[in-house]
Amino acid sequence: MAGEPQADCLFCKIVAGEVPATIVRETATTVAFRDINPQAPTHVLIIPKVHHPDAAALAAAEPQVVADILCEARKVAAEDGVEDTGYRVVFNTGSGAGQTVFHAHLHVLGGRGLQWPPG
Ligand code: 5GP
Repeated sequence: MAGEPQADCLFCKIVAGEVPATIVRETATTVAFRDINPQAPTHVLIIPKVHHPDAAALAAAEPQVVADILCEARKVAAEDGVEDTGYRVVFNTGSGAGQTVFHAHLHVLGGRGLQWPPG
């Protein structure tokens, strides 16, 4: 059921501490950890503790948690020293957009020049 931990979900396992991750911030509703395959000097994923398969499902069910995630993104950027130089926040939503892990997550990317449009 949406919102409940999913036994086969990698990011639910990170929330539960069953899979190790380099956690940089945690709140009552979110966890932020470094991406295992970073695409920029700062590449942090911010996830809801509750399970929803993508950002659209999370927004429909728990919009306040989307706001929590975006507020955390600013803090991650500030703590990593990329707030002033610019950073990017991305929710890949659906496999056609490159989503590979189906537990909603926001990418925070910074620390290098970022091109637009993205590939
Ligand atoms: P997506 O492609 O779904 O938008 O992003 C999934 C992200 O999760 C990828 O950037 C990938 O590198 C990251 N990732 C996949 N497995 C793990 C893992 O076990 N630990 C961490 N920290 N990141 C992971």
